Amino acid sequence: MVKNMTTKKSAVILLCAVIGLFLTACSPKDKSEKNDTNASNVIVSQQKTIVVNLYPIEFLAKSIAKDKTKIINIVKYGIEPHEFELSLNDRKTIEEGSGFIRIGAGMDGWVDKLSIQNILDLSKSVELRKNGNDLDPHYWSGIGNLVKMNSAIAEFLAKQDPVNAQFYKQNADEQAKKLSQIDEKYRSTLAGCGKKKVVVTHEAYEYIAGRYGFETISVLGVEPEEEPSLAKLKEIKSAMKKEGLKVVFLERIVSSKVPQLIAKETGASVKPLYSLENLDEQDAKNGVDLIKMLDDNLVNLKVALECK
Ligand SMILES: [Zn+2]
Repeated sequence: MVKNMTTKKSAVILLCAVIGLFLTACSPKDKSEKNDTNASNVIVSQQKTIVVNLYPIEFLAKSIAKDKTKIINIVKYGIEPHEFELSLNDRKTIEEGSGFIRIGAGMDGWVDKLSIQNILDLSKSVELRKNGNDLDPHYWSGIGNLVKMNSAIAEFLAKQDPVNAQFYKQNADEQAKKLSQIDEKYRSTLAGCGKKKVVVTHEAYEYIAGRYGFETISVLGVEPEEEPSLAKLKEIKSAMKKEGLKVVFLERIVSSKVPQLIAKETGASVKPLYSLENLDEQDAKNGVDLIKMLDDNLVNLKVALECK
């Protein structure tokens, strides 16, 4: 993949060298903005590249942009975004892009150390919930927030590429409609349930739980590397017994084996529940996307919460 990209890049550079005398738009950085005043009517609008750092942002942005703006997610499939470390290559990708859309809310503090001019902090487009003294960054797990992120992304893309503003708005509107339908389906499915709590892998589901009126018991912390103490394990197991919970939800991209252990010790079954933080490579290969993850989550929530 990297090799292919390098070859492609070399081809582009070669092509640029050949036609360089006639054109000046070969740099990966956008020049049309700077040259706006000199722009003659023969200049075709150049495709922009927007860099992002979360799968749901990538999904929403790609569905809005289609072929008009290129979207690159620097957090590759299978990588837990809490554990993401910026490489020199990622940094170059960000610097060469026309803009960057970040998660914010304390999840990507490394962004603050870079000087990026065109940046959209999506956490500013939603209402964040508090978790102790910190903010809970998992706002994308609430479908209402996905709708807000969707329109903020569309506006940002339109600002970078005003020629296609109407195209972006139209795609975002269609996507918002789709998301609202899923939201309605969640509401009706999760309305009459026998249980009020679910056991989840890490504390990434508070926005969704709050929206549909259930509670979560989290095995790991807000950061999935926070493993539970023995006392906490005991507490989780006795809460499961008390509430009669028969399912432990597992996130495939989190490596901790504690959720399976709890399931084994309590006789509960293990079911998948996506935190939507990322896809793993297998899912990506199988064509799983954000909408499929939301649909699958609802099926499994319905079972765990014992809804009618
Ligand atoms: Zn998380």
